[in-house]
Amino acid sequence: MNDEILTVRDVKHVYEMGTHRLEVLKNVSFSIKKGTTVSIVGPSGSGKSTLLGLCAGLDQASSGDIELCSTNLSGLNEDRRAELRSRHIGFIFQAFQLLPTLTALENVMVPMELQGKGGRQVEERARKLLDEVGLSERLDHYPAQLSGGEQQRVAIARAFINQPEVLFADEPTGNLDSETGGHIEERLFEMNRIYGTTLILVTHNNELAARTDRCIRLKGGEIVEA
Ligand code: ADP
Repeated sequence: MNDEILTVRDVKHVYEMGTHRLEVLKNVSFSIKKGTTVSIVGPSGSGKSTLLGLCAGLDQASSGDIELCSTNLSGLNEDRRAELRSRHIGFIFQAFQLLPTLTALENVMVPMELQGKGGRQVEERARKLLDEVGLSERLDHYPAQLSGGEQQRVAIARAFINQPEVLFADEPTGNLDSETGGHIEERLFEMNRIYGTTLILVTHNNELAARTDRCIRLKGGEIVEA
């Protein structure tokens, strides 16, 4: 049985801006076993967020292969990647946040609705998750009517709604006060313990990184320690 949930092979990524090419990832290869917790660390600008976004299927690598949940992402168009994400993936990202025209409650329900599973039970679950992140008074607020930390908490509730196999998180507690951040951190590790959710997170927080089973260190777009 294949116990790797994510395999990254020779991935390069280049951002093209007019005539300027910025090579942010250079031949990155690693794999992650199902049910483990992994942190990706390294200096600012070393390519961590780019790598996480490619692994979660939010963008396509310039070259190389990424296999996630037994599916090679290189062959998939955006619609197929969105479908894979809604079934198997949760993500808490700074830049890929909420849909501006939907309320907090509706945003949390999106991954289930994408699978055609809306309805009362899902709404109840979404309410409960928002309550757990302290937002029961903000269900009908649109993202623009929420603070940065509140938006992040909605994104966290959304990431939990489909009980994902893999949860990707980019500085998941970065915008939160230490009490809320600590609570969210516990939930992430609890999901790993109870449901076997693989947890892959980018962080500058050394204590958080030290809690994960494994730490992948990037520098200048290359892995210096895995
Ligand atoms: P990290 O998460 O380690 O701080 P990032 O992956 O966010 O690093 O960024 C790596 C490099 O790529 C940085 O120099 C950043 O300025 C650049 N970069 C990130 N996103 C883009 C983009 N969409 N277009 C052009 N350059 C980008």
